[in-house]
Amino acid sequence: MLHSPIPLSAVYQARQRIAGRVLRTPLIASPVLSDQVGAAVYLKLESLQKTGSFKVRGAFNKILGLSEEERRRGVITFSTGNHGKAVACAAGDSGIAAVVCVSEHVPAYRAKAIAAYGAEVVVRGKSQDEAEEHYRRLQRDRDLIPVKPFDDPQIIAGQATIGLEILEDLPRVDTALIPLSGGGLLSGIALALKSANPSIRVVAVSIERSPVMQESVKAGKAVAVEERDTLADSLLGGIGLDNRYTLPMVGELTDEFIAVSEEQIAGGMTYALEEHGLVLEGAGAVGIGALLAGKVRDPGSCTAVVLSGASVDLPRYLDVVGERILRGSNRG
Ligand SMILES: *Cc1c(COP(=O)(O)O)cnc(C)c1O
Repeated sequence: MLHSPIPLSAVYQARQRIAGRVLRTPLIASPVLSDQVGAAVYLKLESLQKTGSFKVRGAFNKILGLSEEERRRGVITFSTGNHGKAVACAAGDSGIAAVVCVSEHVPAYRAKAIAAYGAEVVVRGKSQDEAEEHYRRLQRDRDLIPVKPFDDPQIIAGQATIGLEILEDLPRVDTALIPLSGGGLLSGIALALKSANPSIRVVAVSIERSPVMQESVKAGKAVAVEERDTLADSLLGGIGLDNRYTLPMVGELTDEFIAVSEEQIAGGMTYALEEHGLVLEGAGAVGIGALLAGKVRDPGSCTAVVLSGASVDLPRYLDVVGERILRGSNRG
């Protein structure tokens, strides 16, 4: 029996609301990965999503659900980049003002991409938590509507629409590999999948350098983990010490937790380009990296891997992937 603080009806409502505003992304078979793993492996290409990540689903659902009065006040958020871009895009599309706070960790190309959607970008704080503090002050002072990156029922319901699409395109899915940071993506998709079939296994893939949610689930409360530079920078950031939704949902809905190394992330990125011509950012490639490294204890017989994003810093991307391709490390 599924105990979810968010009803499945909210997910269908989200799908209705964001239809036509975001892409219904393709799910493609990966014969090569299937051979290698011994399961039918499919890839859900949220890397092709508008703005370069799945986060527009939650952002559009949240922003399209605001009242007239809330829309007039405008919105504010803090973000490692993709959520900021998504909020800027959804707000811009709806003609409302948006402020996006980012930490100094966020690469400059990401801040620029957010500003390009017409949002006001505020760079402040050495960590995500410091940026969050500044964001709280601004939110109060300017009376803006906060749009959280993951711990919000509307955001979770928006990300859950990915789960509905997977069920439609692959009804026999029995396993899902989902990148995990704050847990909005996993909570949503797992809610949709397990509502249809509770025996579908949900595998969470985090990074060894910052497994914040995993540590928090273990501790039974939100814990802080030191942030370290990683190829999967979209998976950095705390889960919020006042976490209400995603911590209990991830704890309840996850069947297996995995953490991948930097080498494995790079392996996933390289494989996606070589075998599928797909550009993935580190966070988007953790599922493939985990499969290739044999880290998934039980990959099932029909596995959907969520490729969550493609916001890359091109010079760094070419460095990491190009070097590996030249080295031939992914070739048998
Ligand atoms: C935000 C993000 C994630 C993690 O999503 P959470 O809801 O925070 O767990 C994974 N991949 C990409 C590309 C992201 O932008």
